[in-house]
Amino acid sequence: MFDALAESLESAWKKLRGQDKIRESNIQDALQEVRRALLAADVNLQVVKDFVTEVEKQALGADVIAGVKPDQQFIKIVYDELVKVMGDTNVPLAQAETSPTVILMAGLQGTGKTTATAKLALHLAKENRKTLLVATDVYRPAAVDQLVTLGQQIKIPVFEMGTDANPVEIARQGLAKAKEMGVDTVIIDTAGRLQIDGNMMAELAQIKETVQPHETLLVVDAMTGQEAANLTRTFHEQIGITGAILTKLDGDTRGGAALSVRQISGQPIKFVGVGEKVEALQPFYPERMAQRILGMGDVLTLVEKAQEEIDIADAAKMQEKILKAQFDFSDFLKQMRLMKNMGSLGGLLKMIPGMGKLSGEQLQKGESELKKAEAIISSMTKEERQNPDLLTGSPSRRRRIAKGSGHSDSQVTELVGKFMQMRSMMQKMGQGEMPEMFGGMGG
Ligand code: GDP
Repeated sequence: MFDALAESLESAWKKLRGQDKIRESNIQDALQEVRRALLAADVNLQVVKDFVTEVEKQALGADVIAGVKPDQQFIKIVYDELVKVMGDTNVPLAQAETSPTVILMAGLQGTGKTTATAKLALHLAKENRKTLLVATDVYRPAAVDQLVTLGQQIKIPVFEMGTDANPVEIARQGLAKAKEMGVDTVIIDTAGRLQIDGNMMAELAQIKETVQPHETLLVVDAMTGQEAANLTRTFHEQIGITGAILTKLDGDTRGGAALSVRQISGQPIKFVGVGEKVEALQPFYPERMAQRILGMGDVLTLVEKAQEEIDIADAAKMQEKILKAQFDFSDFLKQMRLMKNMGSLGGLLKMIPGMGKLSGEQLQKGESELKKAEAIISSMTKEERQNPDLLTGSPSRRRRIAKGSGHSDSQVTELVGKFMQMRSMMQKMGQGEMPEMFGGMGG
């Protein structure tokens, strides 16, 4: 899947290969390829325009990173922008403070809405959430039966009133039933039409008004490409969606819909459907999708290589900071995140002169220390991160940080102590003294 897109993107950066840096004159061809590739993948025209403009702005404004080739820097910019357009991170389902959480499913007929309803219930069951499904699609032949059958298959109760009842009334009673049963989630399957239709929209709006959902998820068929943009716009304008489920990603689809949905609605894709079976639902991860759009194999390796080169260049800059003793908590955190991306502490340590290899056990311990430190540093103010000395003399600041990060006072004190120790050790290293061991972050 997405092969065509990956191929034309690859030819885009081939054009930058061998250039010494990114310039207005040499980037146009590459941008044109990106534009063509995305349009060919059925990405909405406006989304493509915005995307390419942003990539161009960033590529031209980017500092040339010593040692990083322009084509790789460009790949990284395209990749990062793809991830950004798709929302950066996975956004989990809303969960109401008082049960039940109400999820309204919306979308055209045939997109996989009913299937997604059951898939979602099964997904929640795996998290020990109890769900009631409500069948309000009284129009599509056998839609109610389909949901009942799926419910039996996954052992999730289904509320239905046949096909003669009014959908708004079914939704109302379904919600009441959910409360009576004490389930924590209710998922309401609604009727779709083959095309956007005024009556369908009006009914959906009425159901929404009646049940006041915490989530209104638009189910989008990934095979619909360019249409996905219009669909998203209409549903979002008329109903107001909080997220989307992109179905049929297992098929021979292009990346277009995934890019358009978030950009048009500002709402995240929360799950993807990857098959007809009820188990075939996965959380949506923008990074994975970007990797997929950029292609498996070669292109992905290129992105990784670019990332690595950029990391190394960044590490070199950081090293200079360390040696000049300007290393603060923000650098520390940045460094940690970098290390996480690179997969191990070892990679970075090798770049610091005088550092030997660490054992696997030490590395593992280091990784869990990193998590703790990341949480603690995230709870510091900007000022505190820039000026670590603020923390050594102030127990009340440390207490506040401990509370904010969910750690104990002594854990915060310990981290600050270690940071100080590490900083002074690094300074010494900068002055040519070799440390006995790397005691800065471990145990
Ligand atoms: P609805 O009209 O929107 O409720 O659509 P259905 O849930 O009945 O699904 C329509 C068709 O799409 C059915 O044949 C489903 O098996 C199929 N389908 C749904 N989701 C997926 C998916 O993620 N992958 C594939 N390959 N087929 C799917």
